[in-house]
Amino acid sequence: MERTVYLNGEYVAESKAHISIFDRGFLFADAVYEVTAVLNGKLIDNAGHLARLERSCKELGLKLPVTGEELTGIQKALIEKNNLVEGGIYLQLTRGDEGDRDFSYSEDIKPTLVLFTQSRSLIDSPKKDTGIRVISIDDIRWRRRDIKTTQLLPACLAKHMAHAANADDVWLIENGLVTEGGSSNAYIVTDDNTIVTRPLSNDILHGITRASLMKLADDFDFKIEERHFTIEEAYAAKEAFISSATTFVWPVVAIDDKPIGNGKPGEVALKLREVYINTALEMAE
Ligand code: PMP
Repeated sequence: MERTVYLNGEYVAESKAHISIFDRGFLFADAVYEVTAVLNGKLIDNAGHLARLERSCKELGLKLPVTGEELTGIQKALIEKNNLVEGGIYLQLTRGDEGDRDFSYSEDIKPTLVLFTQSRSLIDSPKKDTGIRVISIDDIRWRRRDIKTTQLLPACLAKHMAHAANADDVWLIENGLVTEGGSSNAYIVTDDNTIVTRPLSNDILHGITRASLMKLADDFDFKIEERHFTIEEAYAAKEAFISSATTFVWPVVAIDDKPIGNGKPGEVALKLREVYINTALEMAE
């Protein structure tokens, strides 16, 4: 079955949605994106995703052609048109196209806005039971990782490398310190059950799931500390885990082939996953 997707004000069949070869998203990765999870046909943490989209646009001087409210309307229409129960909605805004390839662009360029749904099982993902294995590699990305751009080649290559090494994903390292996962934020749990994660800066994406977990950790009396940590500290941690919009929380059971803790999904990670999903379902729009 073909999906109905949204392209620049119209709902069309996916095979009929066409974008110019001169679109700057295609030529220069001159584009930003967001992914919002959908559970029971409802949007999860969407206000946070739309707020971050606005911030990404502001940082790059990109003009959103619709309001946040209109965007939510489009997301909901796509959920309905595609009978989406569980999965995600991908949203991308490019700077647009001016009919040729040129590094510079004019101020009145018309942006391209695309949204489409992806049907996926999120709650019953097998990874919550098995956990994931990651390898650590150099973080070779640009220096504005706080902006959610579509420059994802380093992440694609990194995940390909992880799969070739029989792992599921990567943790990225800069100056000996963990920045984040391939497409997630990274956490460890120390012997006294403190959750440790890197503080916000331009070095990492300000995860919306991370922000919600920080709040939940407070509400449910988990100790949480925002500080840098080395990959060696991660090897020796009691637990490790990642968070993102579509994984929620996945335990990390091995880093560079070294088992973390007892090599099984950790209690703190599983508890946080449970409270995140329960709260997200209650607050879904
Ligand atoms: N860091 C990176 C590099 C990511 O790609 C993602 C996923 N978009 C995240 C962190 C997690 O962010 P969020 O919780 O908003 O999905």
